Amino acid sequence: MVAHTQGWLHCDIPGTDASGVVKSMMDALYEDFKAEEMPNRVHLSTSCCEINCGGQADLAVIVQHTKPPTINHDLVANVCERPTVVARCPVAAIRPALVNGKPSLEVDEKKCICCGACYPPCPPMQINDPEHSKLAIWVGGKNSNARGKPTFVKLVASGLPNNAPRWPEVNAVVKNILMTYKADARPWERLADWIDRIGWPRFFEKTGLPFTKYLIDDWRGSRATLNSSNHVRF
Ligand code: SF4
Ligand code: SF4
Repeated sequence: MVAHTQGWLHCDIPGTDASGVVKSMMDALYEDFKAEEMPNRVHLSTSCCEINCGGQADLAVIVQHTKPPTINHDLVANVCERPTVVARCPVAAIRPALVNGKPSLEVDEKKCICCGACYPPCPPMQINDPEHSKLAIWVGGKNSNARGKPTFVKLVASGLPNNAPRWPEVNAVVKNILMTYKADARPWERLADWIDRIGWPRFFEKTGLPFTKYLIDDWRGSRATLNSSNHVRF
């Protein structure tokens, strides 16, 4: 199945049209939807920003802004309510500032995670552009069940062009990963189980995807903050 986030119709921070990516993926995988010959179920998802809904799936396509916002200081005072913009940043990277004698904002680029959340309340903080807004592919997520803890997606391909309306580069990588999984996994192995068995080095070897030090991403802070069962905890 493919799930996608709301995108341009209902949300204010999308960096792409998630439903368009889904349509192009469904077309590319049409025969596999009909044949249902994957080793186990495959959840695909697409997300149009990096920080809110979506994302957890066997294979997730997620927007990836690659640089902090560029601020048009001449417009900030006229267009933006600065406290709202400061409050919007999930990592407290935005501060009020005086620039050329005018009230404006500044971004601590070391803290900024390039999420794009500051753009809707303040369009002069431009982040989305063809050169720096890309798509990334994460794999190996699944929910917990009676037999196992959840697993979290890991980054395996980044910097793919946000190439509407058919996203051919994204579809090529998605298809490559799924066909390798289909050919190599044992019956009933989910994508995460398959990678667990063969290991990450062989995943990259078998798919032919280039590996860099920025991939996989095992953030240690997640251990303390993420649920590892179906129970809701407060
Ligand atoms: S993924 Fe982000 S941009 Fe897309 S609908 Fe959800 S919150 Fe909005
Ligand atoms: S892009 Fe995100 S993290 Fe960076 S300043 Fe804007 S809201 Fe904060």
